[in-house]
Amino acid sequence: MKNISVPVPAHLNPFFLSTLTASRGERRLAFGAMLLSLLAFVVMAPFAKEQLPAISAFIPIYQSALVVIDLITVILLLNQYISFNSRALFVLGCGYLFSASMTVVHTLTFPGLFAPGGLLGAGPQSTAWLYMLWHGGFPLFIIGYALIKRLDGDMSSLQTNGRQGRALVLACFCVLSVVTGLALLATAGQDLLPTIMQGNRYTPSMIFVISTVWLFGLGALLALWLSRPHSVLDLWLMVVMTAWLIDVALSAMLNQGRFDLGFYAGRIYGLLAASFVLLVLLAESGMLYKQLVQLTATLQRLTTQDALTGIANRRAFDGGLDAEWRRAQRSGLPLSLMMIDVDFFKGYNDRYGHIAGDKCLQAVAGALRLGMPRATDLVARYGGEEFVVLLAQTEATMAAGLAERLRQAIEALALPSAASPFGFVSVSIGVAGVHLKHAGEARDSGAEEGGPARLVEAADRQLYAAKEAGRNRVEYTRP
Ligand code: GH3
Ligand code: MG
Ligand code: MG
Repeated sequence: MKNISVPVPAHLNPFFLSTLTASRGERRLAFGAMLLSLLAFVVMAPFAKEQLPAISAFIPIYQSALVVIDLITVILLLNQYISFNSRALFVLGCGYLFSASMTVVHTLTFPGLFAPGGLLGAGPQSTAWLYMLWHGGFPLFIIGYALIKRLDGDMSSLQTNGRQGRALVLACFCVLSVVTGLALLATAGQDLLPTIMQGNRYTPSMIFVISTVWLFGLGALLALWLSRPHSVLDLWLMVVMTAWLIDVALSAMLNQGRFDLGFYAGRIYGLLAASFVLLVLLAESGMLYKQLVQLTATLQRLTTQDALTGIANRRAFDGGLDAEWRRAQRSGLPLSLMMIDVDFFKGYNDRYGHIAGDKCLQAVAGALRLGMPRATDLVARYGGEEFVVLLAQTEATMAAGLAERLRQAIEALALPSAASPFGFVSVSIGVAGVHLKHAGEARDSGAEEGGPARLVEAADRQLYAAKEAGRNRVEYTRP
């Protein structure tokens, strides 16, 4: 049987930048960033071979920043995968995990950093090969993301199935195994690979390898471009891939070796490329927090406010009565309740119609709220044309005085009613009070045993008495 799902109102639908189709402004911003990167690249390209001082601290600083940025991105992406089971984001998260792990291995093998020839039994080819495998591997994950995105369809309709945890563990295991395999190939198995580095310089076979790596990046950019409509995340991934291509071009194609301008500039592009998606995700999480606060406020309002009159609803009253009852038990202070019913209201509806009836209820509710301005007095719609006022720390006699003022306030509204013998809209009010001396043991004025419900029943009895006695009046439990 097909599941019937109730559509969620647009303002309650949480948004993710990864699911949101990019607006014109967002497209402009992302394409502007791409253009700027290309421009800077064109300016820098002729000077790529310019030899600069070898700053040995540059690599560890740069790579550490890269690992931290990539790992935070992994956590944010995989969190989104857990939230709404998008396989595309899962693949992308794995891509960033791959990139982070490859960065670690690359750093460990870098000659002169932790050991003169690099750690992990690295040879002269290891670091360069790891760079190629890293820069050729990541675009494959991006291509995977772009292809799987189609299968995900409308991401907002995806459902979590509780299997995400297992998938994550398995994915981490697979990614780390692949990275270990590649590290082994580039270190222990480096003789199997063509020579691409001679000292700090590149060899001719490097051209073939680097072209392949570059084509993978280009393929990723193309795959993203074709996966329309573009989400905000897609756009920034395109910026990432542009910077990625420039990184590879500057640091391995146009330059001559390590520590020239192309090498440094390429690394800086690499860092920028890593940061874009993280910045987008962080901006998104800030917006999500804001949305969460707004949604919580909206939900709170929806669950406690009466839609017609704007005053507290039955649910809020029930909660308030429970809380005040317990407080009255603890403090020993009195608690009173007014039960208010509009007189001859059925006739009013019959005579003027339901819309006019609704307006009348709104006017009555407004007058009640105005008449009881104390923050501790809870004015609520009990249901239909019945209202309640809960008065903490107030004796029944005192409450009856206030009820009389409310009755007069409604009368003063002078809402004409041909359905009433008075000629105007009036209310009858029943008032009851309790004075609880000890928890559970009550000494009250008219109410019997039985928790907060008995206060409601007692006020209801008084309301009935007011109706019986002719309406437009107040009756209360006299001590
Ligand atoms: P009494 O003086 O004894 O209270 O007579 P009554 O006609 O007010 O009492 P009754 O309970 O028979 O009628 C209540 C009417 O209130 C019936 C119903 O149509 C109307 N009512 C309840 N809720 C709403 C509402 O949300 N909007 C409107 N327009 N009418 C409502
Ligand atoms: Mg009624
Ligand atoms: Mg009524």
